[in-house]
This record gives sequence, C-alpha cells and structure tokens, in this order.
Amino acid sequence: MKKGSLIPRALRELEVDIPFNVDEVRARYDHERDIRLKRRPEGHGQYISLPELAKGDARLAAMLRDRWTPVIPRPPLSDTVHVLVIGAGYGGLLAGARLVQQGVDPKSIRLLDAAGDVGGTWYFNRYPGAMCDIESYTYMPMLEELAYIPSEKYCHQPELLLHSQMIAEKYGLYQNACFHTTCTGLEWKESRKVWSVSTDRGDQFYARFVIMNFGTLTQPKLPGASGVEKFRGHMFHTSRWDYEYTGGDTTGGLINLHGKRVAIVGTGATAIQVVPHLGAHAKHLTVFQRTPSSVDVRNNRKTTPDFVASNLQKPGWQKERMDNFTIITQTNVPGVRDMIKDGWTKIMRNLNQEFITLRKNKDKLELDSKVISRMMEVADMKQMHSVRTRAETIVTDLRTANHLKPWYQQFCKRPCFHDEYLPTFNRPNVELVHDPLGIERITENGVVSNGKEYKVDCIVFATGFEIGFQASERGFMVGGYDIIGRGGMKLSEKWSKGPRTLKSFSTHGFPNFFMQNAPQGTFTTNFVQKLDEEAQHVSYIIAKMKREGIVVYDPSKRAEEEWCDTIYRRSGRGEKFLKKCTPGYYNREGQVIEGKSLNSLWGGPIQFFQLLQKERSENTVFAGIDLEYSAKL
Ligand code: NDP
Repeated sequence: MKKGSLIPRALRELEVDIPFNVDEVRARYDHERDIRLKRRPEGHGQYISLPELAKGDARLAAMLRDRWTPVIPRPPLSDTVHVLVIGAGYGGLLAGARLVQQGVDPKSIRLLDAAGDVGGTWYFNRYPGAMCDIESYTYMPMLEELAYIPSEKYCHQPELLLHSQMIAEKYGLYQNACFHTTCTGLEWKESRKVWSVSTDRGDQFYARFVIMNFGTLTQPKLPGASGVEKFRGHMFHTSRWDYEYTGGDTTGGLINLHGKRVAIVGTGATAIQVVPHLGAHAKHLTVFQRTPSSVDVRNNRKTTPDFVASNLQKPGWQKERMDNFTIITQTNVPGVRDMIKDGWTKIMRNLNQEFITLRKNKDKLELDSKVISRMMEVADMKQMHSVRTRAETIVTDLRTANHLKPWYQQFCKRPCFHDEYLPTFNRPNVELVHDPLGIERITENGVVSNGKEYKVDCIVFATGFEIGFQASERGFMVGGYDIIGRGGMKLSEKWSKGPRTLKSFSTHGFPNFFMQNAPQGTFTTNFVQKLDEEAQHVSYIIAKMKREGIVVYDPSKRAEEEWCDTIYRRSGRGEKFLKKCTPGYYNREGQVIEGKSLNSLWGGPIQFFQLLQKERSENTVFAGIDLEYSAKL
C-alpha cells in the first residue's frame, strides 16, 4: 500500500508521529536482504556440516568430541524394548515422562542420545553465559510436576541441565537409557511388527515404537568459507566450548585468553550471550558479523518469594503461562492480558495498543486485512526502530553502532535480548568487522573478511546448527543414515520433494513411528510447548494401543494426502512473509520453497494443540489411521 490517498485517514493519523518513513524503511529491508541473497544463492547449502567435514580429519573430529562426560564401555544390546525414544533433550524427556504418566513401565522405555546424559541443547551448549532466552517459568517444562521453581526469570545452563536430570530421575528414565550412542540404522520389520535398530556402539535391538527427535538444532555447522582445515591456531564450535583452552566455566572467567587474539564468527542468539565474556577476557576480540541481531533489553532477575506467591502457585499455572506466551507472541489476539511482560511480548503489547486506539476511531476506518497488515508492519518497524536507537544510544563509536543496527522485520530472525552485548563494543579490545557477504575464507593464520586478513590465535564458530529434518533433503537423516519403512521405503526419498506427514508427528508407510518438532504442524516461539503437546498426544496413543490390543498404527495414504493438501494451501501466507525476510534458518537462508520451510503449517499453535486435545477427548485419535490388531498383546 503506497502512502497517500490509499491509506485510510485514521491510519495516517496513527502514523503521523512515527520517526521514520515507512516506504524508505521497507526499501532498506529489501536492499539488505538482496545483497545477502546475491552472494549466497545456494541457500542453506552454503554451510559446511561439521560432522561431515570431520569425517576425514581427526583434528576436526575432535571438535565434535563430548567434553563433559567420559565414554563408558558397555556390551552391545540385542533386546526388545517397548518404546525407543531417539534424543534425550526436552523432546525425548517429555515423551518418556508422559509415557510413564500413561502407565508405561519406564524400564521398557529406552532413551538414546549421542550425548553423555540427558538435556540435549543444555547438555552440549555450555558456552559462557548460556541461558534460556524465553522466561524459565514458561520454557522449562513440568515445573508443577517437579514442584520446582527456577531461580531466575531466565535461567543459566547449569540449572537447565539439572532440571532436565530431575525429569529423568523422577520418571525413572535413566534405568534403560543409552548415552554416547548414535542411531545408525532404523528399519521396520513387517514380519515381527517391530523396528530394528542399530547404533554406533554395535547394538542391534528391536523396538515396538520409535519416537524420533530429529534434533531441531543439534548438528553444528560451519560458515560457507574455505580453509577451515588449514587454520593452525585453536578453534571450536560454541556447542563444544573448550574450557581447557579458554579457562573459566559457564559463568565466565576465561582467564587463559588474557594474552590471546580471539575471533568469533557469527552474531546470532548464541554469540550475543558469548561475546560479553570473550570481550571481558581476550587480549583482542574480533567479532565477524554478517547480519546484526536485534538486541533488546533483557532485564533478568532472581525469582522472589513474592513473585512465586502471586504468580506460580495456582494449580495449572504453568500451562496458563505457556498458553499466554504463545497467544501473545503468535496468535495476535488483541486485548489479552500479558502475564510475561518481557521483550518477546512487548511488540504485541504495542500492536494491541494500536488496535485499541483504532477501535476508538472505528467510524473512520474499515479494519480490513490490508489495514491490519499495514498496522502490523508499522508496529514491527517501530519496534525495530527502537532496537536500532538502542544500539546507537549504547555504542559510542558511530560506525560500529550503525553496523549493529538490524534492518529486517523482527521475526525474520530470532529476536535477542541482552544487557551486556552492546556495551561490549565500547571496550578498547573489541572490534566489530561487518560484511554483509560474510567472511571470505580462513587461512593458516586467521580470518579474511572485506579483503583483509585478521590474524588470530583462536576462532570460535558461533555459526549455528543444521535443522534436523532438513538433512533428509541431502538423501539421509541426521546421523548419516536413513529410516526404512514398509516395503523398503526410505524416508529421505519419500521426503525428497518436501516433508509429507499426517499432523506433523506421523508419516504413512512408517508404522509406529512418531516424530517430535517435525514440520507441517505448527510453529511455536517456545519450542518446548510443542514438544510437550506432541509428547502427551503420542504417549496417549501408545498407551491406548496397548489397552486395545493394537499392534500397528500407520496413517493412511489418503489421510496424509488430505493433510498435506491443507498444509500446501495454507503455507502461502507464512511463506510470503519469509520471502520478504533477510536470509536465516527460519527461511532456509532465503530459499523459500513451498511446503519445505519451517512455516509450512497447518495453523496457529493454540489451534493445533486444541486439535490434538479434541481428538483425545472425543476418542478420535485413530481416525484416518490403518490399524492392525493382535490378540497376543
Ligand atoms: P544462528 O544460526 O542463529 O546464527 C549463526 C550466525 O552465524 C549468524 O549470525 C550468521 O549470520 C552467522 N554466519 C553464518 N555464516 C557466516 C559467514 N559466512 N560469515 C559470517 N557470519 C556467518 O545460530 P546460533 O547458535 O546463534 O543460534 C541458533 C538458535 O539456537 C537460535 O536461533 C535459538 O533458537 C537457539 N538459541 C537459543 C538460546 C536460548 O534459548 N538461550 C541461546 C542460543 C541459541 P546471518 O545472520 O547473516 O546468517
């Protein structure tokens, strides 16, 4: 919509005081996106998978080593378990816990994880400053069941890991768990109606059901730049922080860096938390930035008894809070009370305020979809303007401050919140190297960017992770193996043109196989809520099957086709937004392909959760499913 007569007068009145020109900002967003896309037309194919690069290189393989727990030798397994849960992060823990709540014997549930313990993200990611970026009371699951109150609004990694361990302890999930074990093969055996499982520990066992976490963000990736293997200094990925080299621990104190020149590549959500610690200790820190993150106020604080008494005591408080967060951040319902009151909910609070003002002017304005979408765009611009102003206010060097200003819509990338990140750039030992084209290459001595070589002793890669299910596009699943269903069908082949599921958690031809956080369902800022809703649903199905003597659950081809048709029909809107975005993992690095993005959704999160809950309460969980019964079970 162009400025002028096409914009309703009441809307223009609302926009009169804004300190920027909407069209100019929009043009700047497009420009910034386009320069990044031009250089990286290969999308997410630009990245180098660390596990793959490490295959022929012992030094790189060491970068993937588990630094936290020694590997304990054990004999290979050849038994049969009721449920195999692949991945022991929040998804797997919730699946296990909800199964136990449904009456499944914990000894018959096997958690399997490449890590040395439960915790997933919070097992591996122990970089200094690691903390959750959604408030703990909403993010950390099962707090009421555990009778546990997090110590801070945004908890740090040690507490997040401890809390994961508490879930495993409470529900007996350690009894049959296999750590430091990676699945290397998964094949459906029709004659026995079981999954045959092989692992890198020589195991060859069977499972009646498999619950799979592809690992939303687990496989470390490196920047698409040549020469990593040539670098002669020290290097590591943030998810395998090397405290032997840096000194210190998750709280900081990286004293071994006092004489070192350190580079960090990437300025996403991880780097935002790491940079203040590196800046405080490195002799010199060079931060290589391709796209700045939006960094707003964090305002972390300790949990007080008063806060607990007035917010966290009524039974059902956590679900209410989770729903509140999700409703406010993702469903855009005006007038909802904000229980969270943080940066995530601020943008929607502002938007709501505009709706209220507009309602007062209702006689002057038709609230049609074009007006609403313009309002949302402008509200987003206002939020991003305040983020840019914050950078300018905090960072004293004007050039650096300008480079730290993000030019895209807030939800194109994960918004960040931190109170020490921006001030770090005022330190004399910290330098920002900004190049929207990214680093050029890595040499024996350091990093080349903007045509200049920066010599360093150590490179920290804060370049993120591969999205688990997207590995299927390269002909295999995470871990380098395939999942073989009925009639020898490979999941990677079935999904070669994009995922095909029924309600995101199941897929035709792969019986008794359930997925968590796969595409084609919904997307939540708070991933954990989706993991839990799926865990509750799938554990209900598994327990019901046992009660009713059902041995095979396979979504029918027809039901899956109908679901996928709906997904493709509905995915247009989210994908239109993503196409406008600066590249990142939300939009497959700018390669938005219908049905393949994270935004290929059936609907909003609350709507999706209600769909699952309704199926359970109305006893329709088996609608559209091909079932096989056995008298034996
Ligand atoms: P991201 O994928 O978000 O960030 C990777 C960074 O590397 C980006 O800044 C990217 O730039 C940069 N990069 C990639 N290639 C190059 C290159 N060639 N040259 C220079 N820079 C490059 O990874 P993170 O580990 O930061 O975060 C991943 C996700 O993990 C987050 O989005 C969040 O969901 C989660 N997370 C959650 C936390 C929490 O709850 N506390 C904390 C940390 C992470 P560009 O933007 O241009 O692509």
